[in-house]
Formats: sequence, structure tokens, C-alpha cells
Amino acid sequence: MTQYGFYFDSTRCTGCRTCEMACKDYKNLPQTIAYRHVYDYEGGAWTDAGDGTYTSDAFAYHVSLGCQHCAMPACMAKCPSGAISKDTDTGLVLIDEEKCTGVGACVETCPYNVPVLDEEAKKGVKCDGCAERVSAGLKPICVEACPLRALEFGDIEELRAAHEGTVAGIAPMPSPDETTPSIAILPCPAAKEPGDATGAIANGKEVTGVPAA
Ligand code: SF4
Ligand code: SF4
Repeated sequence: MTQYGFYFDSTRCTGCRTCEMACKDYKNLPQTIAYRHVYDYEGGAWTDAGDGTYTSDAFAYHVSLGCQHCAMPACMAKCPSGAISKDTDTGLVLIDEEKCTGVGACVETCPYNVPVLDEEAKKGVKCDGCAERVSAGLKPICVEACPLRALEFGDIEELRAAHEGTVAGIAPMPSPDETTPSIAILPCPAAKEPGDATGAIANGKEVTGVPAA
């Protein structure tokens, strides 16, 4: 089986959200649901040296994430209905709407907060890697839309070989050890390790789907 996945170049990403909006448009998603999220991760401070000078270790960068189509998907392991499977040709992790009972185990289990519960349909929903487009030889819509060409999609091992210096996670993502995500990230100079505590997600309400007050 070829394992497909995303490459994300955090040195290029400007946090513009075009990928997220193109996905919402293509998938015709309601206002409160997005299959791709762009995290703004920020931290650091200015330090007063006491002699009229200041130094700064302030940083800010963006991480655009859809589903990681993990090698060991926590969502699939915990679904009580057997509604989540890995496609045998592409390794994409897919939810079978017919089998899904909307119990939300995937929503609670995924360490990347990827699946969300469609309250109206009472179904778990998430990024499917644009499986239909991929089977027609096209790229996922987010990849096509990115104006900075910060996203690529394909055989994850080929992507890792094509881009030197990639890692499987940067903050605020959790450690990749849990689910072995099929993602290759080129870290920008400011990027921190997963589990970093020196920064914080600056757009928490946006990425967790909580409507703005
Ligand atoms: S990122 Fe989450 S939803 Fe996607 S395959 Fe991994 S555990 Fe499942
Ligand atoms: S469209 Fe590209 S540059 Fe804009 S947020 Fe998405 S990945 Fe980053």
C-alpha cells in the first residue's frame, strides 16, 4: 500500500487561510465546520537589560493541518461502530457515513482535534484527503489553492525524500509517537518542538470551532 500524506512548508506559510477557505468552499461546509485549520503559534517576550536596551525572543508562525491520515489512527482504534478505515490503496483514513452513529469517539480521541461532530447530520466528519479528486489524478483542493505553494500531497515517503529536513511535528502539534502521522513538515527557523511550553495558540477559538463571542 502506498501511504499518501501532506507535505507542509512552514517557511513559506503566511497564515492566509486560503487552504482552509478553499476546502470549506469545495466541501460546502457550514460556518462552524472546517476540515483544515491554520494554527497561529506565538510566544517569547522583550527583556529590559536595564541599560536602555532591550532584547527579544518573540516568535510567531503558522501550522496548516488537515487530517494526518496516520499509520496508527487513534480515531479508527476507538470508533465503536467500525466506521473508520484506511483505504487499502492510498492509506487515507475515511469515515463511512452509513456506519457512523455520531457517538463522537473519534472527536474525543484524535490528538490533532481533526474530526468534528456535524450536529445536524449527527455524524463525525473530517478531511478525507480529497479522496475522490486523488483517485481522479488530481491534488487535494487545499494544495491547489495555496498561493505560497506551501502544501504538497502524495506518497509520503517520496515527499520526505524530496524535501530534506522534514519532521513529523512542530508545536503546537502533539508528539508524533502516538499515531505516526503521515505528514512531512519543513520547520521554519522559529518552529518549536512538539510539547513546547514557551508559546501558545493565539487563535484557540478559531481552531477549536468555538464561535467567536
Ligand atoms: S489525524 Fe486524527 S482523525 Fe486523522 S487519522 Fe490521525 S487520529 Fe485519525
Ligand atoms: S493557503 Fe498556504 S500560505 Fe495560506 S495558510 Fe494555507 S498553507 Fe499557509
